[in-house]
Amino acid sequence: MKRLLLLGGTTEASALAAALADDVRFATILSFAGATRAPRLPLVPYRVGGFGGIAGLVDFLRAERMDLLLDATHPFAAGMKANAAAAAAIAGIPALGVLRPAWQPRPGDAWTTVADMAAAANALGTVPRRVLLTIGQKDLAAFGRAPWHSYVIRSIDPPTTPPPNARIITARGPFNEADELALLAGHRIEALVTKNSGGAATVAKLAAARRLGVAVVMVARPSRPEMATVDDVPGAWDWLHQHAVRGA
Ligand code: NAP
Repeated sequence: MKRLLLLGGTTEASALAAALADDVRFATILSFAGATRAPRLPLVPYRVGGFGGIAGLVDFLRAERMDLLLDATHPFAAGMKANAAAAAAIAGIPALGVLRPAWQPRPGDAWTTVADMAAAANALGTVPRRVLLTIGQKDLAAFGRAPWHSYVIRSIDPPTTPPPNARIITARGPFNEADELALLAGHRIEALVTKNSGGAATVAKLAAARRLGVAVVMVARPSRPEMATVDDVPGAWDWLHQHAVRGA
């Protein structure tokens, strides 16, 4: 049996954990950061909270005698990805990242791609606009420095320090296009700010924005560390299967 640390917080990690729960070849521990107040609890054993940087993660991998590390964190979880790559290398165990492809603009899209949240706030301009922010709750500070816009913020948990002039909608995906059209039209949204998260669960807002002619400010992904990666859950299964066979 292979001992596997699965770094989670994504739909891919949840899907892998659900399937791994019934797989006798692996003893899996799923790890959450603790960012979401009420995460969907998995069927495999899990732990919550940071490890304490690279050194803490190396200690955890050794103490738990982990054989494999599967990093299925979100494309924007750059700190955790870097720590995972470094710690797996130090501990000398195979590691794989699951990284869904970024969204690409389609004909009819009006995207402005920016490097970070400060640039996203700048890209909204100086003329007041009605803006939908779907960037989670921890990166809102830049928009507090652009208080002339009115904001609708959609996040899983309510933000603790929203910008002034903000309406909060708490909701958890997946979202469909009809609901996204209703949201954009209902709030007369003129610009949407989103991270380029990729994946199917939250892509409908981009189709809705295209149909309504809403401008999109797209925050590009952070750079990622050197680690072998696959695009999706089936790719991760191929890797897991190879290691299970190798260890049999
Ligand atoms: P981050 O900036 O890369 O991570 C910051 C610190 O949080 C890490 O150094 C680590 O602390 C801890 N951490 C992150 N993921 C962890 C995990 N799965 N298990 C244990 N500790 C973890 O990450 P983030 O952007 O704040 O995201 C936090 C979590 O939310 C991630 O698990 C990610 O998959 C999920 N998520 C993030 C986004 C997003 O847009 N960023 C969206 C959806 C879901 P230590 O250094 O102490 O180990």
